[in-house]
Amino acid sequence: MSESCKSTCRSPRINTREAHCTVCHKTFSGPTWFDVHRVRGNCEEVPGLVELDGLWATKERHRNNVKLAEGMAEIRRLREEPE
Ligand SMILES: [Zn+2]
Ligand SMILES: [Zn+2]
Repeated sequence: MSESCKSTCRSPRINTREAHCTVCHKTFSGPTWFDVHRVRGNCEEVPGLVELDGLWATKERHRNNVKLAEGMAEIRRLREEPE
């Protein structure tokens, strides 16, 4: 993250390979997409990527992330449930 980032910028999550573009302030699910996005110093649309909750990734990747998030929420819910 650079100082030019806005408070609304989605920071790449820790322990992921997410990459943030400090020019157009998009966050990508991986450095590969970031490389595709940056063409000769310009920001380009990456075909096949969709935005969800500030993260640009493939639909497949989003589905997996949602599944993961649901799984984590379920684990938390079960833990918080009184005995
Ligand atoms: Zn930013
Ligand atoms: Zn960019």
